[in-house]
Amino acid sequence: MSQQPIRVAVLGAAGRMGRILSSMFARDARFELVARVDRHRREESMGVCMPSIIEDLNDAPKFDVLVDFSTPEATESALDIVDRRGVAWLVATTGVGDEVREKIESLGAKQPIFIAANTSLGIALMQRLAAQAAAVLAEWDCEIVETHHRNKVDAPSGTAKALAETVNRARASVLRRADFVYDRTVRRSARPDDEIGISALRGGTVAGQHQILWFGNHEQFEIRHTAEDRDIFAHGAVKIASWIAQQGPGVYTMDRILDDIL
Ligand code: NAD
Repeated sequence: MSQQPIRVAVLGAAGRMGRILSSMFARDARFELVARVDRHRREESMGVCMPSIIEDLNDAPKFDVLVDFSTPEATESALDIVDRRGVAWLVATTGVGDEVREKIESLGAKQPIFIAANTSLGIALMQRLAAQAAAVLAEWDCEIVETHHRNKVDAPSGTAKALAETVNRARASVLRRADFVYDRTVRRSARPDDEIGISALRGGTVAGQHQILWFGNHEQFEIRHTAEDRDIFAHGAVKIASWIAQQGPGVYTMDRILDDIL
């Protein structure tokens, strides 16, 4: 007997990511795209049959997985319905506050929740390598630089923050935790040991670049990931949607996907 397709709803469906994702899900026989949700009903032909955009997730027919590339406000307002329907949720929206994130994570006790500030495999690997490098280079000065297209509204990126947390955790196993510094214009003093600088560049159409730089005495080390196209995040999200539909309750991250591959 053939398997039933996974019923997917996309939140933020009229956005840059939501449009790519809707098109991918609609073309993939493993899925049935049952709802596209966005507060802006911008319809455009994508050469494939898909449901019309609805404004309220409450009006969506039954779905198994909610794929969320929207805004922190939309993510927060999805909490109740995801809770009530007991569905799997991929939270890929960035800039979600700590309080809402905690509420999202608490849903993991009864349904599968996947949180990924970045759904690319390359970034997942970068996280692992960053932890290794940060433990070895704990005494070097670490700086993180991210670059994104001119329309990105949050800064620094969720990925830069996640990378900084990873570096800090690994570093803290050797030294004490560092402070994150976003602006050095307000002080006149040399760089202390215990800080990680995080800088955000914005311009053009850059899909996303993250660099972690370590500066030692007369040597430097760098890890860099460049997303050349937004499609990589969408491909990652499709992979996660098919994976999470098979999982039981829990809070999952990209690390788990890497574990499955390696
Ligand atoms: P976008 O601004 O193009 O799209 C966001 C969409 O959400 C818009 O169409 C907007 O109308 C819609 N929206 C806003 N409020 C809403 C509401 N209350 N209900 C329903 N829809 C609502 O942004 P984007 O570039 O597509 O990115 C969306 C999010 O995904 C951002 O947070 C971005 O940082 C994140 N993102 C994550 C990854 C990843 O790999 N995890 C990759 C790219 C982008």
